[in-house]
Amino acid sequence: MNARLQPAPSTPAWTPASLPARTVAVAAGDGIGPEITDAVLRVLRAADPNLAFDAVTVGLRAYEAGALSGFGPEVMEAVTRHGVILKGPITTPQGGGFKSVNVSLRKSLGLYANLRPCVAYHPFVETRHPGMDVVIVRENEEDTYAGIEHRQSDEVYQCLKLITRPGCERIVRYAFEYARAHGRRKVTCMTKDNIMKLTDGLFHRVFDEIAAEYPEIAKEHMIIDIGTAKMAVQPGRFDVVVTPNLYGDILSDVAAEVAGSIGLAPSANIGRDCAMFEAVHGSAPDIAGQDIANPSGMLLSAVMMLVHLGRSAPASAIHNAWLRTLEDGVHTADVHVEGRSRERVGTQAFADAVIARLGQAPQRLQAVDYPEREPERLAQPQAAPEAAKRADKQLVGVDVFLDWDEAERDPNVLGRALEALAGPEFRLALVTNRGVKVYPQGLSQTLRTDHWRCRFPAVEGRAARPRDIPALLLRLAQAGFDAVKTENLYTFDGQRGYSQAQGE
Ligand code: NAD
Repeated sequence: MNARLQPAPSTPAWTPASLPARTVAVAAGDGIGPEITDAVLRVLRAADPNLAFDAVTVGLRAYEAGALSGFGPEVMEAVTRHGVILKGPITTPQGGGFKSVNVSLRKSLGLYANLRPCVAYHPFVETRHPGMDVVIVRENEEDTYAGIEHRQSDEVYQCLKLITRPGCERIVRYAFEYARAHGRRKVTCMTKDNIMKLTDGLFHRVFDEIAAEYPEIAKEHMIIDIGTAKMAVQPGRFDVVVTPNLYGDILSDVAAEVAGSIGLAPSANIGRDCAMFEAVHGSAPDIAGQDIANPSGMLLSAVMMLVHLGRSAPASAIHNAWLRTLEDGVHTADVHVEGRSRERVGTQAFADAVIARLGQAPQRLQAVDYPEREPERLAQPQAAPEAAKRADKQLVGVDVFLDWDEAERDPNVLGRALEALAGPEFRLALVTNRGVKVYPQGLSQTLRTDHWRCRFPAVEGRAARPRDIPALLLRLAQAGFDAVKTENLYTFDGQRGYSQAQGE
């Protein structure tokens, strides 16, 4: 999706390109889904007659028919068979029913890259940032979205943030491959590795390693907070941005919003074997069935699908006809502005207007010309040379987390009791509460919850053995302590594999 390439010539006597036959799965979804899908398929049929559609059911209708996850096995089978699915929005039932179909589909199909182009269509759609054209590449499976959460004490809840080397490698490589294939000049990585030195630090490090393989593409790293602020006020300084899951979720909404076109925004979810294309907006039940919904988000998602399939000619034709329709002031109600728009049209009439402009180029907005190429080559996770050799991993201690709510939560009482239980294998190095050191020599001002992290390194000159840990836990249990979790402390090739405690 790149609206900055060379203007395409206007070809009045336009005929659709004859491409090899290809079938894609299509799910209309809920709410406005069926009507916008209908409109989009009509445009696709006009521009790419050799594309066929295999209709599958996802969402409320599938749920009512007994598929409790909102889609049945035939959906997975169709997506696996065809490699791609164009999906309408789904209504997520509130207070019960199936979990988010989108999240379930992304996870089951291994769609690791979420791609969101955020483009301003000034002056035809209101924006503060004319010329904005940013693509957010969000990691789609890991991070806090692994969905591993636990309550550990009365007061403390935990969500596990998992970042893996293969996960970082494939998303970062995907971002650079995308930039290269789409003529983009710069990739910005955003993390919070000044705080999360291990997890976000790995993402940043992998970014630096992989960036070195793409010398023609500029690279930079920004801390996510200042990066998001810059996205809100100076989006023109960005081109492609790659970031872990949670940051990407927030950043892509900020970017789409400041582009002014969240209702027009498309997205792609890319996996190793298949891909799913869908509009960013939801099922808009408030306007369903009225023929007033804007089909543009789904239409631009379909354009991304065609590009992904290597069907560049119909992709360019539809995209340019759509830009021309926008320029001509033919607008659905959501973007219609009295005085600026010329004609207010419904969903199907908008699709007709795009079909009528196939072969035309926009005159003020920049036209697109997707280059001919093979179906998108997906970035595969590759074993990095250093990943081929497993690191020398040494157990050097253990962090034990206690649920402890006694002695008015006096850390000195706790610390002294633990000192007596640590040996002979371990010594107590420190106790922290919410990551802040409270023993030895804590500060009375530090807020103390009922959740204590107690660090036990192996005693000097003695290697820790795995069986030492249950022995320690047994001593703690016999003394009445409630150990709610442990984290082993390892070094990898001599490097610490755990964060230092504050004040350590
Ligand atoms: P929404 O995007 O459906 O609607 C927000 C507002 O934007 C509404 O006023 C709606 O009328 C309008 N709108 C949305 N799309 C439009 C379009 N194409 N043309 C014109 N106006 C449009 O968001 P919501 O109301 O928060 O969510 C409704 C349902 O959609 C919920 O069940 C939610 O879970 C689901 N949802 C699904 C997806 C998806 O399937 N990808 C994404 C977001 C929300």
